This record gives sequence, C-alpha cells and structure tokens, in this order.
Amino acid sequence: MSIRVKLYMSYLAMVFVPVILMIAFMLFYFYAGGIEDVREAFDKERKEPYLQALVYGELSYVLENDAGKLEDKEYLSDIQQRLGDLWAGYLFSKNGRITSVAPFLEQVAPGQNWQKLLEEPPATVAFSSYRFETYNIDFKYPDGSDGRGVLFRRNDTVPIYWRPVGTAFSLAFIGLTSLLLTYFVSRSIIKPIKKLEAAALQIKDGDLSRKVEATSRGEIGQLSIAFEEMRVRLKHSIDQSLQYEENRKMLLSHISHDLKTPISAIKGYVEGIMDGIANTDEKRTRYMETIYRKATDMDQLIDELFLFSKLDLQTVAFDLKVMDFSRYMEHFMDEQRFDLDKSGVTLHYTAHEVGSIFIAADPDKLSRVLTNILNNCVKYMGQQSPQEAKTIIVRVKELDQFALVEIEDTGPGIEKEDLPYIFDRFYRAEQSRNSETGGSGLGLAIVKQIIEGHGGMVWAENAEHGGARFCMKLPKSGAVKTVDEHEEHTDH
Ligand code: ADP
Repeated sequence: MSIRVKLYMSYLAMVFVPVILMIAFMLFYFYAGGIEDVREAFDKERKEPYLQALVYGELSYVLENDAGKLEDKEYLSDIQQRLGDLWAGYLFSKNGRITSVAPFLEQVAPGQNWQKLLEEPPATVAFSSYRFETYNIDFKYPDGSDGRGVLFRRNDTVPIYWRPVGTAFSLAFIGLTSLLLTYFVSRSIIKPIKKLEAAALQIKDGDLSRKVEATSRGEIGQLSIAFEEMRVRLKHSIDQSLQYEENRKMLLSHISHDLKTPISAIKGYVEGIMDGIANTDEKRTRYMETIYRKATDMDQLIDELFLFSKLDLQTVAFDLKVMDFSRYMEHFMDEQRFDLDKSGVTLHYTAHEVGSIFIAADPDKLSRVLTNILNNCVKYMGQQSPQEAKTIIVRVKELDQFALVEIEDTGPGIEKEDLPYIFDRFYRAEQSRNSETGGSGLGLAIVKQIIEGHGGMVWAENAEHGGARFCMKLPKSGAVKTVDEHEEHTDH
C-alpha cells in the first residue's frame, strides 16, 4: 500500500474509530444498565418533560384548591408513584412535620435527613449520582394547618460524573486510536527505511554484499528496488575496477617478462659474437639469425601490445563497411592458401552455399582476426610430428541474424580447463609456454576485442577429432549494432 493511501486511511480511521468505539461503549453501558431497547429509552426521555408538566399541573391545582386530597392515602401513593416513574418525588409536611416521603426518593436516597431537607431545601441536591432540583410550595390544608410540599425533580438524565467521564473516555479513545494508528503506520514506513539506512551504512563501510529486499509495493518498495539496483551496479563497478587493477598489474608484469626474455637472449648472443665464442662464419650466421628472430618476436609483441591497448582504451575507430562476407572470406582464404601450403598445411574452405551474406565490418580488423587465428592453428599444429597431416578447415554459414565462421585445425586442441581463459589477455596454456611456440598471449585477446567491437561473439571448442575449433558470429548487416551501442551494452 502506498504511503499516501496509508495516510488517508489512517486519518479517516482516526475520525471513525473513536466514534465507533464510543457508540459501542454507550451501547454496552445501556445494556449493562438494563436498557434493552435504546430507542425506547430515548423516546421515554424525550416525552419525560411533557408528562412531568401534566403531573405538576395537576398537583399545583390540588395544592392550591384541594389540599385535603393529600390526606387521602390512595391518591397520595398514586401521585408519588406517577412522579416516581418520571424521576421525581414529593416531600409533604403538615405543621412542620413530615407526612409523606415519596417511595422513589427513599429508594434513590435511603437514610436521608428529610426533615432537614424540608426545613432548608437546597436549590439542587445529588441523589444516586443524579442531580435533583427542588421546588417548595407552601399551602394550607382545609383544616387551616400549614402545609409544605418540596418537589425533587431530576434535572439531567445523565449522571453527574458521566459527562466528564464520557469526555475523558472520548479523549482516551481518540488518543489511543491515533497513538496506535500512528505507531502502525509509522512502523510500516520507518521499518523499511531503517533497513535501507542499515544497508546504506554498510555500503558506506565498503560492504556491498547485503541484499536489500522490497517488502512492499508502495513508494518504499520502489525505493528499495532502486536501492538494490544501485547496490548491484556499484558492486559490479567496484568488482570491475578491482579486476581492471588486477589486470593492469598482470599486464605490467607480463610485458616486462616478455620483453626481458628476448632482450636477455639478444644480449647473450651479441656477447657471444663480441667475445669470439661464435668463431666460425656458420656460427656467426646462426647467432645473427637468432638475434633477428628474437628482435622480430619483440617487434611483433610490441605491435600487438600497441594494438591491444588501443582496442582496450577504445581509441581505435572501426571503419565499418557493408560487404559480402562470403566473397570476402573466399578472397582472403585464396590469399592465405599459398602461405599455408608453404608451411605444409592444407586449407579446406567451405563457402556458404546460396547467395551472399551481408555484414557491416572493418575489413582490415577482420583480416587481423583471421590471421591471428590461422597463425595460431599453424603454430600449434607445428608442435605435432611432421608425419601427421596438417589441415585447416574453414566454413562459413548463415544463421538467422548472424554470419558464422568456423576455423578448425587438426592440431592438439585446447585443454578443457584452458577453454574459458584463452581469450584473456596474456593467457597462455601451460603447454604453449615454451620458446617453441613463442607468441605474446595477446593474439586471441585482440580477436575478442575486434569481434565484440563488431557486435559479434567468439568462442573456442574442441573438434570431434581433437583439434581446436574457433567460431565467430558476426551480425548481418540489417542486425548490426553500432560499435558505440555495443560498448554501451558491454559497459553495463
Ligand atoms: P599465444 O601467443 O600464446 O598463442 P593467443 O592469445 O594467440 O596467445 O592464444 C592463447 C592460448 O590459446 C595459447 O597459448 C594456446 O594455449 C591456446 N591456443 C590458441 N590457438 C590454439 C590452437 N589452434 N590450438 C591449440 N591451442 C591454441
């Protein structure tokens, strides 16, 4: 429930609940007091002044004109009875001595000093928690004796203490209701806020692990959801920056190691030449060739490093052109076939069967990708015995939204545990960490950067016969995302 609705409802409840409680309390009071039909009670109360007026009129006539009737016991008891029904009663006296006390008065105020009340009647008197007014009338009996009548009449249907008690109860009901409602409403608001506060404090202290769950669907629920999203993103970005930091350290240590190794080798060979260890022409030529090879490796490493860091910093512009991917691949493979033949590798290219597949791609970057993968295939197949057939199979397929290329070799394949990491920068599987294969460990990282920069995907698996298979999906021209869009996507 939203806070607004909660507040509206609690304000309404603050008005209605005390009223309902008061009515319930009054009904209880009535029933406890023996009144079964409340309407009847109200009706009686309404008619009371009228009936009283009738009896009083009759009595004042009797007192003035026919006071002897008061000595008629039957009449006296009848009139006292009628008065009693209307919460009133007379005190009569003859020559200062009480002759009759209304049974009703005896009932509501047993043991009263009636004589005193007769002599000095107060304006009002309280009997049984009710206030009674008094009226005294002096008259003459037919025999000439002095008579006095004091009328006690209830002047308020509500007992004396009931009004302040009733007010106190009303105030208590209002106070209690508002207290309880305020407590429950504020608890339902404050509790989730407290939870958020605790989570915010934890985040402030650097602990982003506590999940914030939305307990309601109102404003606070929405706030909790937004807060949780913020926490997840913050955690992700902190994890990411920690990862970047780790990568940066790894990168530096790898670069220094990879540059140091060939430089030490070059130094060693140059010293060998200078110290005359290479004392024959043949040895010198071999030394010089090794130095050249090491320098070339270093050059290649620096080139790859340079390209990789530019891709990583996203400072390389992709010159996207819509092109027929089948034709591009056919052309590229034709160019490669000669070099591959020279290395003793047979290339099988299976083109896409029908028509063209249009993609938007940067041809230079794409050729870099294919070269890196083909070079790897040649390199790792080179580790095998010369007798084994070396074949690279390239297939182009068309999927719904993508063009798919598969490049497969008949080399040793990739260890299962290495598969998830080979596209990481500087990752080299243990077997290839030797001088024979060389390589920077950046080749596949560059492939991944470029393919993802095109909005595509790249992954590796092992072919059924054991060789490595690299698969790349590039979006077809209609489905291509811009590089920026893709970056935005991957940033999140
Ligand atoms: P490297 O310079 O070490 O080749 P790459 O990034 O090009 O670095 O490749 C990463 C790792 O992936 C390599 O060290 C190697 O273990 C594995 N790899 C890549 N291509 C192949 C392949 N065709 N066959 C077997 N393993 C491969």
